[in-house]
Amino acid sequence: MTASRPLVDQFNRRITYLRLSVTDRCDLRCTYCMPERQTFLPRKEVLSLEELHRMALGFIDRGVTKIRLTGGEPLVRRDMIELVRALGRKLGNGLEELTLTTNATQLAQHADDLYVAGVRRVNISLDTLDRDQFARLARRDSLPQVLEGIAAAQSAGLAVKLNTVALKDVNQHEIPALVEWAHGQGMDLTLIEVMPLGEVEGDRFDQYLPLSEVRRELEQRFTLSANPHRSGGPARYVDVAETGGRLGFITPLTGNFCDGCNRVRVTATGQLFACLGGMEQVDLRAALRGPDPDAALSQALDLAMRIKPARHNFEIDRPGAAPALARHMSATGG
Ligand code: SAM
Ligand code: SF4
Repeated sequence: MTASRPLVDQFNRRITYLRLSVTDRCDLRCTYCMPERQTFLPRKEVLSLEELHRMALGFIDRGVTKIRLTGGEPLVRRDMIELVRALGRKLGNGLEELTLTTNATQLAQHADDLYVAGVRRVNISLDTLDRDQFARLARRDSLPQVLEGIAAAQSAGLAVKLNTVALKDVNQHEIPALVEWAHGQGMDLTLIEVMPLGEVEGDRFDQYLPLSEVRRELEQRFTLSANPHRSGGPARYVDVAETGGRLGFITPLTGNFCDGCNRVRVTATGQLFACLGGMEQVDLRAALRGPDPDAALSQALDLAMRIKPARHNFEIDRPGAAPALARHMSATGG
């Protein structure tokens, strides 16, 4: 199927990847992501299943071939699996990949259904294998469920990639062990620098750990060689000779990756953010709730292409820096 009018921004970047947040709610409270007392949106503000579906079809019609469902925690939304099933029907018919990012606490219940609906890969966030550390970091004692979720995903046939946020003095010293564990279980792992999104308790400068430093530490222990693999995203990869696995680095702060950007993000309330690190925004919910939703959505996507910025503007590497943006990652979807 060819797109009616592909989405191309003012810098000639073709947008083929949608990250769609289906809820801002979450069953964990990772300290770098949200405060303990996070205020969640009233349900009527969040897009309905039908609205999410219609919107996703509008993106596919404009040439989006990959959709990642995220949140908040996507699997806490009750009708999530219905959305996955509905979008799964577009696989091979405009859509090439349907995937999700999850904390895996509820993945054990859903892994088989996801596979049957056409999902083949999932990204799972895991920052530590130490139960006490997990309970402190996520403010919930859920590591056993997460590990069960990972095992269930693998036995359902889903390829699993782990995402680990590198946090100074928190999981810093555990990173080599995490890499060994992931690779030993046949999973890729990608390290992410903490980004200044939304107010959290404490100063982010205390959490920030440049991946250049992590890489130097890893090189004391492992032989790393550049791997040309590109996922179409910001990660850069190396092969780890000792484990035989692949390790990714996402460095929004120490290395800029915006030139090849192919994506936009939509929040659970239907706000399209043209860039994770910017305020450029288009209200797709207004389009979807107006008299001619499909035409209005397509026009709104045209507007998004005109305002998508050249690059983000994060800054974190000085003490006391304010969050670059007031919104949390859980709002925009990671
Ligand atoms: N709840 C799901 C999960 O944790 O996988 C999906 C949403 S979560 C917001 C997506 C990703 O964003 C997770 O890998 C999380 O670690 C990451 N994340 C959240 N806040 C972040 C921040 N301030 N900087 C960097 N990564 C962050
Ligand atoms: Fe929830 Fe994911 Fe944020 Fe952790 S990172 S609080 S699991 S949304």
